[in-house]
Amino acid sequence: MTGPAFDNSYARLPDGFFARVDPDQAPEPELIKLNTGLAEEIGLDVAWLSSQKGLEMLSGAGVAQGSEPLAMAYAGHQFGGWSPQLGDGRAHLLGEIIAPDGTRLDIQLKGSGATPFSRNGDGKAALGPVLREYIVSEFMAAAGVPTTRALAAVTTGERVQRETGLPGAVLTRIAQSHVRVGTFQYFFAREQKEHIQTLADYVIDRHYPTAKEAENPVLAMLEMVTERQARLISQWMCLGFIHGVMNTDNMQVAGETIDYGPCAFMDRFHPNTVFSSIDRNGRYAWVNQPNIGVWNLSRLAEALLPVLHPDQDAAIKLAEGAVGRFSDLFNETLNAGFAAKLGIPVDAAFMQDMFKLMADQGCDFTLFFSELTRIAGGGKEEPFAALFVEPLEAQLWLEQWRKRHDPALLDGMKAANPVFIPRNHRVEEAIQSALAGDYTLFHTLVSVVTRPFDPQPEHAEYERAPTEDQIVQQTFCGT
Ligand code: AMP
Ligand code: MG
Repeated sequence: MTGPAFDNSYARLPDGFFARVDPDQAPEPELIKLNTGLAEEIGLDVAWLSSQKGLEMLSGAGVAQGSEPLAMAYAGHQFGGWSPQLGDGRAHLLGEIIAPDGTRLDIQLKGSGATPFSRNGDGKAALGPVLREYIVSEFMAAAGVPTTRALAAVTTGERVQRETGLPGAVLTRIAQSHVRVGTFQYFFAREQKEHIQTLADYVIDRHYPTAKEAENPVLAMLEMVTERQARLISQWMCLGFIHGVMNTDNMQVAGETIDYGPCAFMDRFHPNTVFSSIDRNGRYAWVNQPNIGVWNLSRLAEALLPVLHPDQDAAIKLAEGAVGRFSDLFNETLNAGFAAKLGIPVDAAFMQDMFKLMADQGCDFTLFFSELTRIAGGGKEEPFAALFVEPLEAQLWLEQWRKRHDPALLDGMKAANPVFIPRNHRVEEAIQSALAGDYTLFHTLVSVVTRPFDPQPEHAEYERAPTEDQIVQQTFCGT
């Protein structure tokens, strides 16, 4: 039995990139769930993680050998407003490991206590947001969307004070890294050109090694970040996913979905859907996510200007060119993504008309595509038509769809249309039950949504859209 073989490259970066700080010692840690599949995949010893030493590491009760806990410094635009100093206020990077496939991965605790970046926060996490992140991030991974992963969830034995007292919990997060757009902004705002260069070199080495061969590696990196974000956000759109807080500090440069706060999947389709209780202007609405992607990448480009080119005007031109590629890349992957969902050749006009119809008819987003997949496989039309306020409209649309549908694309449809997603009311139900001490629903939900494309007739109730009284109108930040 051995603990992780840490090799901590971020801890070797200059002073000013982070603050060294140990996690708080959880008084009575208890394991809720260990992601044994993930642990094996990334080369961690499940027996060690399941041992007392493992539980100590996963809860912050003890610092494992080779771990050099630190809180990363970063800044960010939150809902468009500038915050010069954010940083890990409730997270500790324990260190990095090298997975069997050679990938360097961060092991981070979230909810593990105050750091020099906590400002007025307590550094803790409540049980609900920890379970939410576990469920949703593991679904995303199973659905093929780049994402940070959940290695474990534990309770700490402590109460944390929110509107009421709640059980404290810690999530262990695995990520390609935790460098964000806001990490670059932190040094840009401080006019620390050398640190911007150091961070760019670090990111290129770790995430974009092929950029080193380019004439201008920083430009190549910016282009590659842009490409990954365009693809990532189009994947979100294809699942009806709304991130909820696409602040620049929540956009990771390696292109993984990160920071699952008030995120949610749409039930009934409407492009302007927003869930987050603090997003009053719909800044992060479903349909606006690509625009925000460009906005955030423009902030990244701005922070890179000092190292893009010695001449400011030339640097701006390069930056604009790189970020300007987003729109075509996004549209291309979005159109291809929805064509796969529909089992038709790419047809942007048909897709846009479909969005309008779905919104007018109040169709459930996920069921629209999973029932259509069943029709394509020879199933009945009634369940699909029942998603429409006016079922006759469904018949008319299906006629148009049949003219385009290619039966050879059925397997692609099955792979693009999850049957199971973590519906808000199910996530809420699992959290409420866990707060009352029963984790059964949490475990069931994780098991169902991490096999999202498998028919699981015994769990048919997890497919269903919420009834009127089950609809969750708002989601709240994990703070
Ligand atoms: P988030 O909304 O999760 O992206 O967090 C925004 C910023 O607030 C980050 O710098 C977090 O580390 C910090 N933060 C969030 N919750 C807490 C907390 N309970 N204690 C300290 N800092 C926090
Ligand atoms: Mg964040």
